[in-house]
Amino acid sequence: MTDAARHQPEPLFKKLCLVGLGLIGSSIARAARASNAVRKIAAWDASPQVLARVRELGIADDASGDLKRALQGADLVILCVPVGSMGAVAKSCAPFLERGAILSDVGSVKGSVVAQVARHVPAGVHFVPAHPLAGTEYSGPDSGFATLFQNRWCLLTPTPDTDAGMVEELAEFWKRLGAKVEATTPEHHDLALAVTSHLPHLIAFNIVGTAAHLETVTQSEVIKFSASGFRDFTRIAASDPTMWRDVFLHNKDAVLDMLGRFNADLTSLQRMIERDDGQGLFDLFTRTRAIRKGVVEQGQDTAAPDFGRASGGKLGGV
Ligand code: NAP
Repeated sequence: MTDAARHQPEPLFKKLCLVGLGLIGSSIARAARASNAVRKIAAWDASPQVLARVRELGIADDASGDLKRALQGADLVILCVPVGSMGAVAKSCAPFLERGAILSDVGSVKGSVVAQVARHVPAGVHFVPAHPLAGTEYSGPDSGFATLFQNRWCLLTPTPDTDAGMVEELAEFWKRLGAKVEATTPEHHDLALAVTSHLPHLIAFNIVGTAAHLETVTQSEVIKFSASGFRDFTRIAASDPTMWRDVFLHNKDAVLDMLGRFNADLTSLQRMIERDDGQGLFDLFTRTRAIRKGVVEQGQDTAAPDFGRASGGKLGGV
């Protein structure tokens, strides 16, 4: 036995089955293997091309395309498909889930996923919804990487009747992958994420769309001068269209609520400019600058100027 193998902690689960091998599913596969969190990994995806790529990449022990075989003996099953497909995928998995297994997911919206999935969970299977707050603007099995969850939060949203021991086991799994774990309710999750993730994405989609439509700014100027701020929005606005369509359709109430508040704040900002209220603008920008400082201090981004681009830093986001 090598030294590295001797120092590896014992696996937490016998067999992990990942359903959906895109950015998040393939990152979990890589991170679980790198950290020896599970003994075996099975992968299943609706797309034969994705499964063929998973086999080429060698990130799972079994990616045969047989769902029953993939779920056989799995004591941890994680659904990593778009939010709008969670119910249908849970229904397909249900007949093959093992008694005592943990069924989880990584969906970016929790209320809707709980409503879609819970009704298909067979007796004896423990449903523990989760959401790792980590991602990039890329999709597919090639875009995943083992360190994606390092020092990122993973929120668990168990229902009141979820077995506490099972919540703890899933928390241990995410910690093994490098994440920090916290539990909350699906409702609180959806409200918090509407502010911290969903609204910023909506603003980025809108601002990039607006700039592309501006008649006075030619397409080439938009790209040419993009480093003056626009560029940072384009990264977020390049995020997966299916994923984000589903997020907005499935977290409608919270997003519309936050959008209402955002519109009110934008109107007040507009008034400050109209009234030459320099003090108001200065005070607001001072408060927002302090928020960025907090993000850096809590290890959620690099302190290097311009996100570390000059020093070749890696970009990332949710
Ligand atoms: P992704 O890269 O597009 O991967 C999704 C995978 O699921 C694709 O391989 C897709 O195949 C497959 N799929 C779609 N519908 C399916 C179905 N009905 N049955 C089986 N497989 C299906 O997306 P992702 O970024 O990994 O996102 C996956 C989940 O993670 C989403 O729920 C998302 O909300 C959540 N999440 C994403 C991020 C992020 O930043 N990306 C962060 C945290 C959580 P096709 O390509 O053939 O459709």
